Amino acid sequence: MTEYRKLVYSFGNGNAEGEAGMKELLGGKGANLAEMDLLGLQVPAGFTITTEVCTEYYKNNKNYPESLKSQVLNALAFVENVMGAKFGDKDNPLLLSVRSGARSSMPGMMETVLNVGLNNITREGLIKKTGNPRFVYDSQRRLIQMYSDVVMEKAAGIEPAEGKGVRVQLEHELAKMKKDRGIASDTDLTADDLKELIEIYKKKVKEVLGKEFPEDAYEQMWGAIGAVFQSWMGKRAISYRRIENIPDQWGTAVNVQAMVFGNMGDNSATGVAFTRNPATGENYFYGEWLVNAQGEDVVAGIRTPNPINEIGKTEHNKNMDSLETAMPEVYQQLHDIQRKLESHYKNMLDIEFTIQDGRLYMLQCRVGKRNGPAAVKMALDMHQEGLIGKEEAVMRVEPSQLDELLHPVIDSKEEAKVSSIARGLPAGPGGASAQIVFNSVDAVEWVKQGKKVILVREETNPEDIEGMRAAEAILTGRGGMTSHAALVARGWGKCCIVGAGSLIINAAEKTLKVGDEVFKEGDFLTLNGSKGYIYKGELPMKKAAEENPDFVEFMKLCDDIRYLKIRTNADTPEDAAKARAFGAEGIGLFRTEHMFYGKNAEKPLFILRKMIASKSEAERRNALNELFPFVKEDVKGTMAAMDGFPVTFRTLDPPLHEFVPQHEHERVKLAESLGISSDEFNKRADALHESNPMMGHRGVRLGITYPEITEMQVRAIFEAAAELLKENKKPFPEIMIPVTSVVTELQHQYDLIKKVYQEVCSKYGLNEIPHLAGTMIEIPRAALTANRIAEQAQFFSFGTNDLTQMGFGFSRDDIGGFLPEYLDKKILAVDPFNVLDQEGIGELIKIAVEKGRSVRQNLKIGICGEHGGEPSSIDFCHRTGFDYVSCSPFRVPIARLAAAQANIRNKR
Ligand code: PEP
Ligand code: MG
Repeated sequence: MTEYRKLVYSFGNGNAEGEAGMKELLGGKGANLAEMDLLGLQVPAGFTITTEVCTEYYKNNKNYPESLKSQVLNALAFVENVMGAKFGDKDNPLLLSVRSGARSSMPGMMETVLNVGLNNITREGLIKKTGNPRFVYDSQRRLIQMYSDVVMEKAAGIEPAEGKGVRVQLEHELAKMKKDRGIASDTDLTADDLKELIEIYKKKVKEVLGKEFPEDAYEQMWGAIGAVFQSWMGKRAISYRRIENIPDQWGTAVNVQAMVFGNMGDNSATGVAFTRNPATGENYFYGEWLVNAQGEDVVAGIRTPNPINEIGKTEHNKNMDSLETAMPEVYQQLHDIQRKLESHYKNMLDIEFTIQDGRLYMLQCRVGKRNGPAAVKMALDMHQEGLIGKEEAVMRVEPSQLDELLHPVIDSKEEAKVSSIARGLPAGPGGASAQIVFNSVDAVEWVKQGKKVILVREETNPEDIEGMRAAEAILTGRGGMTSHAALVARGWGKCCIVGAGSLIINAAEKTLKVGDEVFKEGDFLTLNGSKGYIYKGELPMKKAAEENPDFVEFMKLCDDIRYLKIRTNADTPEDAAKARAFGAEGIGLFRTEHMFYGKNAEKPLFILRKMIASKSEAERRNALNELFPFVKEDVKGTMAAMDGFPVTFRTLDPPLHEFVPQHEHERVKLAESLGISSDEFNKRADALHESNPMMGHRGVRLGITYPEITEMQVRAIFEAAAELLKENKKPFPEIMIPVTSVVTELQHQYDLIKKVYQEVCSKYGLNEIPHLAGTMIEIPRAALTANRIAEQAQFFSFGTNDLTQMGFGFSRDDIGGFLPEYLDKKILAVDPFNVLDQEGIGELIKIAVEKGRSVRQNLKIGICGEHGGEPSSIDFCHRTGFDYVSCSPFRVPIARLAAAQANIRNKR
C-alpha cells in the first residue's frame, strides 16, 4: 500500500488547511489565500494542488500521482459546499478559476484559465441565477478564447506562425462582428450577438486546431490544471527563471478557486492595489480598478484603469472616477483590509480584489514588488514606524536594487529646457536615452552589437522578456501601472513608461508616430521613467544617489550592522574622492599601471615606454628617474584623498609588451628619445612578445628581474607618505606585491622595500612611516603555501580574477568563446569571473586564510578581484574571516549593504 500524501489543500469559510508559511509547498498565491482565509477575510473557496505534484509530474513523464484525482474531487466537494453551488450543474453551477502560483511570483509567465465549467448547459443555470444573459454569454466566449489558446494550443505544444494562433483568429471574429454591427466597443455587443459569437468561436476552434472545444466541465478543469503544470516548462517561464535565478525544480502549484465576477454590471469591479506606492515607497494606499471587468483586463492593459482613490490621482487620470468616490463603502472595507494585511505581514503587499454585485472578495495578496528607491524608503519608514527592526529593514533591500538609486537620471537643467513630445505613466524609475527598436529580437540583436536601445511596444507580453531585459528602457502605448511591462520593469528597476496613449506604434513598419512626427527604428528618444515624459533625441544623463537623503540614511543602518570594511579599487585622486563619497574606507587596490592610461597620461606613458624599451640598467634607471615625479604625484594625491584610510599600492603587474606602442610614428619618437634606430627599437619590442603573457613576465617577476622598477615605486610611495606626514595628514600606505607564487619572491622584494624605507626615513628625518607590506594571493601555489607566504607578508589580498583564471584554467580574456554555451547547457550555473566559485576557488581561499593565520594571527585579509563587489561573494568573504572587501567605486554602496546582510545571516 502506498503511503497517503496530502497533495491538495483546501481553503474557504475560515477553514484553510494551509497558511502563509507554506510557500514552498503551496506557492506564494496558495499560501497567502489560505492565510487570508484564516484571517477571516472574504476569500472565494478553493484548493491548491502542491508544487510537489508539479515536480513529480515532470519526473514521471507527465503523469500525476495516483491519489491526485480523488483528492481533487474531495476538495471540489468542499468548495461546492462552502459556495452552495455545484460544478457542472445545470441549475446552480459553480465556476472555477485555475491559476498558477510558484514560490516566488513570476508575473504573467504562466497560465490562467477563468470561467472553467461553463458550457451550453450550465450557462442556462447561471442565467437563471444572475438574470444577466449578456454577462453569461460574455463569460463563455472568454472561456473559449482563453482555453483554446492556453490549453488546446500552447499546452499541446502547437507553435502557430505569427498571427495564426487561435487567440488572434478568435479576436478577428470578434472584430468582424463589431464591424458588421457597426459598433466600436465590446460592451456594445448584445446578448444575442455574444450567443452567436460563441458558436462562431467553437467552429473556428475546430477549424484551427482540428478538435472540438470540450463541453464537459470536468474535462475543462483537468485540461486547465494540466496546462498550468505544462506552462512551468514553457519557454517564457524558463527564460524568466534563468534571469531571476529560480531553480527549475521548484515547480508551480495550481490554485483552483470558485469564480467571482467583477464583470456582472456596474455594481461590479476588479482591481489591483498596493498597501504603499510601489514606485516611490510613499505610505498611502495605491492602486487601480476597473468597473465591470475581469482581473485580466487590468493586468493585460487592455483598458486604462482608474485610480483607486483621490490621493493617487495624477495629471493623467484626474478626471476618472476613483473607487473611493464611486463605491465609498466598499472602498472603506478594502482600505481597512489592506491596513490589517499590512500590519499582519509587516510588509508592503500587492493585493487583488473583485467586487461582485457590491460584495468585496479578496483574490490574492503577496509581498509587493518594488523598485530600489521605494524599497529603501519603505524599509526606513517601516523601521521608524516600529513595524520592523533595524536588521529586518536592512534585509528588505536587495543589494542589486541599490543600483537603481545609482542609476542615471536625465540632467534636470537640460530637461527643463525642452518640452516632451508625449507622456505616459511613470512605471520604472530613472532616465534613459537610446535608440528605439520595435521588437524583442531586434532589441537583443542591437544590444549584442553594443548599442543601447529602448524597446517600443504597443503592450508587452511575456514573450518580450529577453528584449525587455536587454533594453535600457521600455515604452508602451497601452497599459496601466500594473500591466505586464510595468510589473516586470519595476521588478528589475528598469526605466519604463507605459500607457503613452498618444503614440501610434506600427510594429510591422517599425515606426512610431506622435502628432505629425514619425520616428523610425534607430532614432533616439529620451525617457524620464520617474515622471513619464518622453523626449525627442538624446538628453544628457546624470547620477543621482549621493543626494538622496533616504539613501544616505539607509546606508547608515547598514554601516551600524556590518563587520567587513569596504574599500575601493581606484587609481586616481578623482576616483578615490568619488569612492569616498560613496562610503569607501580606503583603497584595496591601486593598480599602478592604470595611471598610464587615464587623463593627462600621455607624458608618463611615453616615459614608461622608454623604460620598457631600455636595454641596460642604466638606460632603465634614467627613464625611471624621469617617471618618478609623475608616480609620486599620483600616489600622493590619492593618499591625500583617502586621508586617514589605508591605501594599497600594487607594484607594476601587467606584461610589459602591453605597453609597447603599435603605431609606427610613436615607435619612431621613442627610438629617437632613446637615441637608437627604429630597427633596434622594433627588435627590442619584438623581444618582449610572449606566447602566454598572462603566465609570462609579469607581476613580481618584473620586480625581480628589474628591481629598480619596484625601487622607484616604493620610493615614490614612501616619499609621498613622508611629505603628507609633514603636512599633518594621516597616510597609511600598504605595499602589495602581485602574482606571487613562492615566499622567496617576497623576501627579495621586501629586502628592497626595507632598504628604500630606511633611506626615505633618514632623508625626511622621520623615525617611522606607518605602513604594511603584503601580497596578493592570486596563484594557487601561493594559496596552498600560505603559511610560508605569511612568514613574510603582513596582509593578503585575494586577486580572485587571476585566482579564478589559474584555478579553473580559464583564460579571463577568452572565456567569452565558450561561456555562453556553458551557461546554456548548465555546465556552469554562473560566470565564475562574476560570482565567486565558492566550491573550488573558495576552497583555495579557505586554505590560504587558515594557513596564513596559523602563522600570523593578525594577518589582515581582503579581496580586490571583481568579486569584491558581488553580494554572494561578499557573504563568502564575511564567513571566511576577511577583514575587508574592495570593489569599484559604484559598487561600494552595494558592498556596504551586502556586508551588513552577511553579518545578519552570520554574526561575527
Ligand atoms: C585579480 O587578479 O583579481 C586582480 C585584482 O588583479 P588584476 O585584475 O589586475 O589582475
Ligand atoms: Mg591579478
